[in-house]
Amino acid sequence: MLESDEFLSWPVYDAERALKRSRLEPALQALTRHHAAACADYGRLLAAYGIAPDAPMTLEQLPFVPVRLFKHRLLSSVSPEQVFKTLTSSGTTGQAPSRIVLDKLTAQRQTTALARIMQNFLGPARLPMLIVDHPGVIKDRHSFSARGAGILGLSNLGRQHVYALRDDMSLDLEALRAFAERHRGQPKLAFGFTFMVWQHFAQALRAAGERVDLSGLVLIHSGGWKKLVDQAVDNATFKARLRDLLGDVRIHNFYGMVEQVGSVFVECEQGYLHAPAFADVLVRDATDWSVLPPGREGLLQVLSCLPHSYPGHSLLTEDRGVLLGEDDCPCGRRGRYFHVHGRLPRAELRGCSDTQPGLAAQA
Ligand SMILES: [Zn+2]
Repeated sequence: MLESDEFLSWPVYDAERALKRSRLEPALQALTRHHAAACADYGRLLAAYGIAPDAPMTLEQLPFVPVRLFKHRLLSSVSPEQVFKTLTSSGTTGQAPSRIVLDKLTAQRQTTALARIMQNFLGPARLPMLIVDHPGVIKDRHSFSARGAGILGLSNLGRQHVYALRDDMSLDLEALRAFAERHRGQPKLAFGFTFMVWQHFAQALRAAGERVDLSGLVLIHSGGWKKLVDQAVDNATFKARLRDLLGDVRIHNFYGMVEQVGSVFVECEQGYLHAPAFADVLVRDATDWSVLPPGREGLLQVLSCLPHSYPGHSLLTEDRGVLLGEDDCPCGRRGRYFHVHGRLPRAELRGCSDTQPGLAAQA
């Protein structure tokens, strides 16, 4: 581990706010300096907004890049020879996907960070793992879709992988039953994208009139609620249905994005998303970009120590959310905790882009 990767050794949910801030601010500011020097586009943006990368900055003053910039430009802070993987977002219809270049250092950080975070919920052992998707999703290892990359990333945390779906997306009930039988009563892990888990797993089981006892399972899922909200399925309904079908299982959603792979925000036992030691979240007013206090809904800004190969350490997302508190969640984890309320509607996004600066100036 490089000296600059010290952040990966910080206990994931232990630091109270002053300590966390004293660690995060210099680490993120070092990244701002690094990217300003290494990525010409980013350097020009800072200069255009009169931001001196060397000036001392609080978390709130750190410049942020709108996440959609990665759809329009390939922003890289490394030479082409150093790029060994490019991630692309799925991208909604009519939109270009985000392209994120990774060097070995950033990819290694992502793997380590994800493992450190998930160990807090899974324990140190690699558990037998059910993947709620089909094997084809990771076959083409050169074109890493966000979904394929997510499955591969999470797969590292498990062993004896079994796929719950066939290549035609139908439920492989035989494989599921065999997995349940082989690991009966033992801790085990499942991962899938939220919509896959709901539509092709829970709904398929229910349609078949089947229940499978997976007691002891920790189900991790991620990937946005839009399609479920359209079906009037909220988090409580999602959990209740899965427990009805699978028995005594623990379920954790996480919030993350292809532009900040690794530093994910995992839902705790209380149903709140938590910022890990090497990442943080701010909520901003969508009209004047001021930082909002807990309880006020705004746009989420996500901070992460991981991105070395692209200037993605401080991003303004297009997701609405609300900060709920800091250091005092009843689950015992320290740090900020929050809810995500969904994507800003397209019309509002367009309105936003009229006023949204290419890069926010210091508050
Ligand atoms: Zn909590």
